[in-house]
Amino acid sequence: MVLLTNIPARNPGTLTGPGNNTWLLDGAHPTLIDAGVGHPEHLEELSRHLAGRALSRVLVTHGHPDHSSGVPALRERWPAVDVHRWPSPDASACVPLRDGEQVPAGDLVLEVVHTPGHAADHVCFWEPRSRGLFCGDMMTATTTIMVPPAARGGSLREYLASLQRLAALGPAVAWPGHGPVITDPVGRIAEYLAHRAERERQVLACLNDGVTDLDGIVARVYADTPPALWPAARLTVEALLEKLGKFGRDVVGGL
Ligand SMILES: [Zn+2]
Repeated sequence: MVLLTNIPARNPGTLTGPGNNTWLLDGAHPTLIDAGVGHPEHLEELSRHLAGRALSRVLVTHGHPDHSSGVPALRERWPAVDVHRWPSPDASACVPLRDGEQVPAGDLVLEVVHTPGHAADHVCFWEPRSRGLFCGDMMTATTTIMVPPAARGGSLREYLASLQRLAALGPAVAWPGHGPVITDPVGRIAEYLAHRAERERQVLACLNDGVTDLDGIVARVYADTPPALWPAARLTVEALLEKLGKFGRDVVGGL
């Protein structure tokens, strides 16, 4: 049995939806998957669950602020906590994770799966007994994932390869960084791959029709999306054009 509790990070917003999930795996090594943002109510709820015990470790799925910026507050509350992250310039005080490494968490052992694409330092944590996956920002139950261009640490090619790698594990359940638990991760990944293929067809149709500026492509392909999300869509289209080898050559615009 997996002793797992979602401790909400209390950071609702346009890109975070209802706010981030942080997952407490209780047991011999109380472990938090993702750090939240240091909101006082997040720390209080975590303290209540630990009931006087120390937090052993934090496993950070990636360095985006909604997943990692709570680390200093967690260190302040539990000074002996070990923070594990994929190596990156802003993770110097953390224990570096390696692909395939086994990490004790709660009463379980999680396996590190490096899944770049949404962010270069993104990892998932695989729990083989339950076939459960802590999937960070690789997928959600209700939305698609923003995959930024290379200048922002993203790669659509790598993201698609990471999805394929996760599908090959055959997860039965996935615990995401945002939104509800995903009860059919393999089916969700298939939907994502089909969605990306459809977006690629739509963007190629724009190019064929002579729409060759980034904003024009976003306005056409994302016509049904609220304009508040267009800046994120713009980055996703830029990443798609990079994958196609079109950005900066056939399409102008970008950041
Ligand atoms: Zn992220």
